[in-house]
Amino acid sequence: MTAKKPEKTRKSGVTDRYARTIDYLRISVTDRCNLRCRYCMPEEGIPSISHDGIMRYEEITLLVQAAASLGFTKLRLTGGEPLVRRGLADLIESLAAVDGIRDLSLTTNGVLLAEQAPRLKDAGIGRINISLDTLRPDRFYTITRRDLFDRVTAGIDAALDSGMDPVKINIVVMRGVNDDEIMDFVLLTKDKPLSVRFIEFMPTAAQNGWERDRVVSSAEVLSRIRKQYIIEEVVDTPGAGPSTDLRIDGFAGSIGFISPVSSHFCDRCNRLRVTADGRIRGCLFSDDELYILPILRQRRPVGEIADFLREAVMKKPRSHTINDGRFKNCQRPMSAIGG
Ligand code: SAM
Ligand code: SF4
Repeated sequence: MTAKKPEKTRKSGVTDRYARTIDYLRISVTDRCNLRCRYCMPEEGIPSISHDGIMRYEEITLLVQAAASLGFTKLRLTGGEPLVRRGLADLIESLAAVDGIRDLSLTTNGVLLAEQAPRLKDAGIGRINISLDTLRPDRFYTITRRDLFDRVTAGIDAALDSGMDPVKINIVVMRGVNDDEIMDFVLLTKDKPLSVRFIEFMPTAAQNGWERDRVVSSAEVLSRIRKQYIIEEVVDTPGAGPSTDLRIDGFAGSIGFISPVSSHFCDRCNRLRVTADGRIRGCLFSDDELYILPILRQRRPVGEIADFLREAVMKKPRSHTINDGRFKNCQRPMSAIGG
């Protein structure tokens, strides 16, 4: 009788210098976008990365294989606008097949989602985050500089129809811009199983209009909602990440908060970000980057790429510095980092 081989134990992420387990990779697949949200991009856009400077699909797949070999299990694709990159569903299919990746999701502005949702779902996208900062078409134009509101709402419906679950709506709350719509967004969760998440407005590249007074803290949003509703229950939305999820009694969906400005979630941070041109960022707000594209392009062995990722994990800072005197806006706009 032959002895049974011991089962290979799977690694579960990489522990950084501050005892956090890093097992979540966010990859920006393009820096291009079909909207020009004022808080994210200047009107003229940003100088695009050359075609050759962007990670190719096979390079992204290699990167994800290396991350999975370290025990990364969660993966999110973002942008720019990921749906403008041709053949995205093919990439998703190959990423979904990487052994160890259990949670594959996408952040999109929804403009191209109506036509792509069924294919994306088939390719492996179970969960999706759609960004929408207003429910008023005229205001949508003011915020995004594009007249595409109806496309986004059609995209949300298509995501629900395709069976993606959860479908999350991300709203960046800005005082004097859209904070009068908080209750309208809460009402969106009444009949539809949407998860609406209020995000604090973050400072990024210098000209994004950020001022501390414009930030509506999660605590303030919650207290405004509590004046009208009894928040009944904490629900555990899969992949809730740094957001806390709550439900209003009788409502089909849920609400959540992402509070990068008012309360650090840095001590629970579990992620690395990779920009479309192949630079690893340990923190959204830190411009320290490690350039991984060259070794991906040279098709170095997975182990070598994994070592590079491990090095990036070890360089993660303990926390961002938004709330202390040392904070400097980061050099890259959010569209180049992926949010
Ligand atoms: N284009 C896609 C989208 O809009 O969903 C993906 C990329 S976008 C950079 C990712 C997320 O970052 C979006 O939810 C967007 O609202 C958010 N974001 C961009 N700039 C932000 C800022 N200054 N403060 C808070 N969130 C921001
Ligand atoms: Fe484009 Fe998303 Fe930035 Fe808006 S937030 S400009 S949709 S990348």
